Amino acid sequence: MSLIYQRVAYIGLGLIASSMIHASRRAGLVGEVAGTARSAETRAIAREDGLCDIVTETAAEAVQGADLVVLCVPVGAMSAVAEVIGPHLKPGCTVSDVGSVKRAVIDAVQPHLPESVHFIPAHPLAGTEHSGPRSGFAELFDNRYTLIVPDGDVDSAALARLEEFWRSLGANVELMDPEHHDLVLMVTSHAPHLIAYTMVGVADDLRRVTDSEVIKYSAAGFRDFTRIAASDPTMWRDVFLNNKDATMEILGRFIEELMSLQRAIRTGDGDQLFDYFTRTRAIRRGIIEAGQDTAAPNFGRGTERETPEG
Ligand code: NAP
Repeated sequence: MSLIYQRVAYIGLGLIASSMIHASRRAGLVGEVAGTARSAETRAIAREDGLCDIVTETAAEAVQGADLVVLCVPVGAMSAVAEVIGPHLKPGCTVSDVGSVKRAVIDAVQPHLPESVHFIPAHPLAGTEHSGPRSGFAELFDNRYTLIVPDGDVDSAALARLEEFWRSLGANVELMDPEHHDLVLMVTSHAPHLIAYTMVGVADDLRRVTDSEVIKYSAAGFRDFTRIAASDPTMWRDVFLNNKDATMEILGRFIEELMSLQRAIRTGDGDQLFDYFTRTRAIRRGIIEAGQDTAAPNFGRGTERETPEG
C-alpha cells in the first residue's frame, strides 16, 4: 500500500498527537513523523521515547517539507501557532487541527495561512482525562468518529486524503459544518463536562459530607463525574471560552429542565419523573446499539480507556 502522507508534522505532543502517531505507525501509512511541543520537557520525552522521527525545537522547523501539519494544542493556543508556522508551510500541504471547538479555531487559524495550503479542520471524538506525550495509545480512535469540518469549499483531493488518513487511524469519518459541530459537541461533550465539574465542586463544598466519605462511598454516578472532572483544566477553559454561544444556549435549556424536575420532586409528580427517566433511558440504549459504548456493567469503574472526549 502506498503512503498517505510522506511527512506529517505535529504541533503539540500530548494525548491526541501521541495517539495519532501510535495509530499511524500501527497502520504503516505515514512516512516520516516530525513533532514539537512548547516545553523542553515534552520534547525531551518525545526524543527519549522515539515518539517522532524528528523532534524540533520550534514549530517553524517542524512543518518544513510536511505534507500534513496537525495542530494538537489547546484551542486558545491555535492562533499563535498558526502565525508562527504560516510562512514556513510547504505549498500544497494540508493543515488540520484536532481542536474541540471549530468556529473559533477556524477564525483564529485561517488568517495566518497562505492561500497555497489547504486548511481542513477536524475533531476526533475520542479522548481520556489524561494528558501529555506518554498518555497516547494506538487504539484511541478505533471505531470512534472523527468529524472533518471544512469551512466552505475545500480541495476535494486534499479532503479525500485527510479522510483516508483518519480512517487508517481507525476512525469513522463524517463531514459537518462548523456551527453545527459546535452545537452538537456542546450537547454531547462540553455541557456534560461542565455539569461534572459542577457536581464535583458541589461535593467538595458540601462540608456536611466529609472528604473521606466522598471518596469512600463514591457511587457509580459520582465516580464517573470525578473521572470527567479530572480532565485537563487548560483544554476545558479554552473550550468554554471559545464556544460561548452554544454554551449559553445549552446551559439555558439545561437549567430549565433541571428546574422542571425540581418542581416535579417538590410537588410529588412521580409520573413526570418516571416518564422523563424512561425517555432518557432510550438514549443510552441508542448509544449502545450504535456501538459507541458497551452494555457491560462496570458500576462506574470505567477503565481509563473509556473515553470522555472533547
Ligand atoms: P495535552 O495532552 O494537554 O497536550 C497539549 C500539547 O499542546 C502539549 O504538547 C503542550 O505542550 C502543547 N501546548 C499547550 N499549550 C500550548 C501553547 N500555549 N503553545 C504551544 N503549545 C502548547 O492535550 P490534548 O488532550 O492532546 O489536546 C490537544 C487538542 O485536542 C486540544 O485542542 C483539545 O481541545 C483537543 N481534543 C482533546 C481531546 C481530549 O479528550 N483530551 C479530545 C479531542 C480533541 P507541553 O507538553 O510542552 O506543555
